Order: sequence, then C-alpha cells, then structure tokens
Amino acid sequence: MSRYWSDIVSTLRPYVAGEQPRIPGLVKLNTNENPYGPSPKALEAIGQAADDRLRLYPDPAATELREAIAARFGLTAEEVFVGNGSDEVLAHTFQALLKHDLPLLYPDVTYSFYPTYSLLYGIEAVEIPVDDKFQIRLADYDRPCGAIIIPNPNAPTGIGLPLAGIEALLAAHPDAVVVVDEAYVDFGGESAVPLISAHPNLLVIQTLSKSRSFAGLRVGFALGHRDLIEALVRVKDSFNSYPLDCLAQLAATAAIKDDAWFDACRGKIIATRESLVRELQALDFEVLPSQANFVFARHQSQPGAALQAALRERHVLVRQFAKPRISDFLRISIGTDEECTRLISALKEILPA
Ligand code: PMP
Repeated sequence: MSRYWSDIVSTLRPYVAGEQPRIPGLVKLNTNENPYGPSPKALEAIGQAADDRLRLYPDPAATELREAIAARFGLTAEEVFVGNGSDEVLAHTFQALLKHDLPLLYPDVTYSFYPTYSLLYGIEAVEIPVDDKFQIRLADYDRPCGAIIIPNPNAPTGIGLPLAGIEALLAAHPDAVVVVDEAYVDFGGESAVPLISAHPNLLVIQTLSKSRSFAGLRVGFALGHRDLIEALVRVKDSFNSYPLDCLAQLAATAAIKDDAWFDACRGKIIATRESLVRELQALDFEVLPSQANFVFARHQSQPGAALQAALRERHVLVRQFAKPRISDFLRISIGTDEECTRLISALKEILPA
C-alpha cells in the first residue's frame, strides 16, 4: 500500500493466474491449455511472417482476421471485435458496456476475473448463488439489472447452460446487455452466436486459447450487434489501437480457417475427458458434468488442498481454489491420454486403499 495509490488500486484484489512453472516432465493440468498445439498452418504463417513486415505497425483493425472470424460464424466483419486474449476483450467489455445505474449480475461461482473488473471499473455487481448442484438458476436473474454476464460453460465448474436458457435471459432483459463468455464452448457446449441476429443486446465472447491452442499468442474475440462492437472499438482505440501484433493476426487467421485440425483436437479432448471422468469416479470422486476442456472433481473424503499438494510432489499440477464452497474441488485440465494416465497413477498412490 502506498500513499501514491488511488483508492481503487488500494482495495483491488487482482486476479491471480494459474502458475506457469517451466519444469521438464511436468504433467501440467492446471490452466486449461490444449495439449495438442496450434494448427500447423498457423505455425507456418508465423514462420513466413517473421520478416520485414515486423518493421511496420500491424493492421489496427485486424481486418483479415475479423473477416475470417465473420465468415466462420456467418456474420459481417462489423459484428466482430478482436483483442489480446478474451481477458482483454472482457476488460474492454466491462469498461464499455457493463456499467449502468442498475447492477451487473453474474454467478457467485464463476471466472474470478469478473469481480476484479467490476472493482476496477467501479461497477456495482451482484453475485447470484448457483444451486446445490452448482447449476445456474435462471429464475434468480429475474430482478432489475443493467447487465448480465454468464460464462457458458461456466468456469471452474464446466457446467453448460442450454441455449434456451440464454434465450430466456435475453427475452426477460431486453434493456440489459447480456454477455455470454464462451471460452470453453467448443468442447460440447451450445453457442449463443445464432441468437445474435435477433438480439441487439447480446455479446458473445470466445477465445482461441483453448480449442485452437493459442494461449501463448493471446487472441480472443467478441461477436454481436455492430453498436456493441463499436463501443468496444472506441475503448480499444483509447487504450491501445494495436492490441494484436502481426504474428498473432496472421497465425489466428490461418487457425480459424483450419477446421480439420480444430475438429480433430477437440474430438480427442472430449474423448479423453469422458474416460477421465470414469476413472475419477472409480476413485471415489464426484465429478460435475463438464462440457469444457477440464473437469471439476471432489474426492469423497480427501481435502482438495492436500490432494493438490500431494499431486504437485509427484509433478502433476492441477488447480485448487481457496474459496469457501469449492475448496475441496480440483480443476483438472484435459491433457493427452498419457498425461491423464499419469494423473490417475499418482492419485492411486496418494489415496488410501
Ligand atoms: N473466460 C473464462 C471463463 C476463462 O476461464 C478464461 C481463461 N482463464 C478466459 C475467459 C480468458 O482466456 P484468454 O484470455 O486466454 O482468452
């Protein structure tokens, strides 16, 4: 704490990202990365781009990338906004669209960046409790609000909300901005993108970090009515008009077009998830139904923090959150089959017979 800090910074509880140790041989299942790597076409694009073009500023509007994303989703480029990871897209969204006289609503078990952004931008937020099965209960959102943000599937639970639920929220709140954070939608969830044309208050945010394996390149995007997108562009241009560098723009454009790689990788991840769920259940874990590239699982008798520490000693990294309702859960990213086998072997060593 310094006397030079603003009041907001003094009270800010910054988001703490999952650790990124560079230890060879580590089974790293703590930050929901994709074990299969980006499309080879994206890597090729980076190789070709590392030339004299780096001397020049990148296209501030990322036109080619926005056109490629628009084509994939049947939208126009004016309905697409891109940013430096969906975290940055979310930050601009909070600043541009979620501050109103009425409160912002989001679930109480969710992505912990939302409270941080709310505090940073002076947004009054109300956390709506999920039910005893960690499901979002739509009836509880039936209250006056200026905006709503729903992660779908939710994180860290992995539980998805059917499209009809999002549609009901939009119908009930035509005057509120409804943001659907679809960071994990490509692993079995239902995307709200088809609702955009009928709902000018809907903003869908996705990332290339998970299903396209771009976590290190930082590319995320928002889709919605051009008025919402224009608000994001205004904030972006006032913050940093070049959020995406040349390499990220070129690589992401190639990746978005590579459906074959995308489908193969997410198919493998979904198949591995299903077998991991069965193996965890056989070891007495309760596993929440996941539509994401991770599972959220709690052992019937062993505390989460102790299990995480014991796994770490065996060079297996998983995430545990020191928050009241969820502290006994482990959030386990879906790795390769081999990595998941190593996780299960380590658990068998740790758990009492
Ligand atoms: N939304 C949710 C729900 C997430 O879990 C994450 C990943 N931590 C993000 C957004 C941000 O992802 P990225 O910035 O890598 O696009």
